[in-house]
Amino acid sequence: MARNILVVAEVRNGQLRPVSFECIAAGRAIAEGGSVTAVLLSQADVDGSELIARGADRVVLVKGEHLKEYTPDGWLSALQQVYLAEKADVVLMGHTGIGRDLLPRFAMRNAAGMISDAIAVKLEGGQVVFTRPIYAGKAYVTQVVTDGLIVATIRPNNVAALEADAGRSGDVVQSEAAPVDLRTVVKEVVRQAATGVDLTAAKIVVAGGRGVKSAEGFKPLYELAEVLGAAVGASRAAADAGFCDYALQIGQTGKTVTPDLYIACGISGAIQHLAGMSASKVIVAINKDPEAPIFKVADYGIVGDLFEVVPLLTREFKALLG
Ligand SMILES: Cc1cc2nc3c(=O)[nH]c(=O)nc-3n(C[C@H](O)[C@H](O)[C@H](O)COP(=O)(O)OP(=O)(O)OC[C@H]3O[C@@H](n4cnc5c(N)ncnc54)[C@H](O)[C@@H]3O)c2cc1C
Repeated sequence: MARNILVVAEVRNGQLRPVSFECIAAGRAIAEGGSVTAVLLSQADVDGSELIARGADRVVLVKGEHLKEYTPDGWLSALQQVYLAEKADVVLMGHTGIGRDLLPRFAMRNAAGMISDAIAVKLEGGQVVFTRPIYAGKAYVTQVVTDGLIVATIRPNNVAALEADAGRSGDVVQSEAAPVDLRTVVKEVVRQAATGVDLTAAKIVVAGGRGVKSAEGFKPLYELAEVLGAAVGASRAAADAGFCDYALQIGQTGKTVTPDLYIACGISGAIQHLAGMSASKVIVAINKDPEAPIFKVADYGIVGDLFEVVPLLTREFKALLG
């Protein structure tokens, strides 16, 4: 059955977010001859060609003064407008801050089945089957929407994006969002100065826990991260202790990351921390306690003092990577 897919793309710091390309790839995998349309709700000056190169057949750029900053009312109304015009069967978006706020509202508005935080999607017996982690990543469940419109958010870094193909062609159309009464307006956005690699999109994460002992103790982790082109993350204990900013916190009440490589330094492996990183492809744990629970989820474990091990790794990687 051919399905028309609508992907809500997102821009951050003037760039399309990689998860938007991943959603397009997911859409392509289940379209069965239907079309994949990407929609951008106002935001930066993005012309849409990159979305076409990544597999979209069509891009709708929706303009509206009230869409510049995310508000549930503004974006929901604009998305609804595009959805009705495009007659989509499936609506996908990254499981980002905005995705997890907007799509459940959209599903509710349309009385649709909603699947949140999917890490895989495939066709099976003519149905679209999603896989999502449950119990903080301890188990996986497969789910289908049994009837009508399918709405889903997809966790970043899990579905492979398609290679950019500059030779692909597709329509890019502009549309104007209908005015809407906003019940909340954004008065001001104070953004933290972006430093280094975006944690949620990073392919490699070097994370520190209470074992790092101080803000100064994070220095060797930053040095390793720089050599690897990695982002630095942290456990909640490290953030609570003031060793680093809460923006670095990974876990149940922090960010969810799924990098190719996660290096946990001085992190015990509490369930709430695992909830944010256990789906990482390769996990390396450095801990001086051989009984630390993190070793149960680690692919490679180094029992030792992180202040000895991390500088050694930095030195070796520097030599290896030039
Ligand atoms: C509702 C709720 C939500 C929570 N949400 C989160 C969350 O989102 N993210 C999160 O991380 N936690 C969260 N927590 C807290 C969580 O339960 C743990 O307390 C926290 O993850 C522990 O952080 P840690 O591993 O850094 O510290 P600890 O558990 O204290 O572990 C420190 C580790 O460092 C090792 N170590 C010490 N010195 C060295 C050294 N020199 N070299 C090598 N290893 C060393 C120790 O052996 C130990 O294993 C939450 C808790 C609750 C109740």
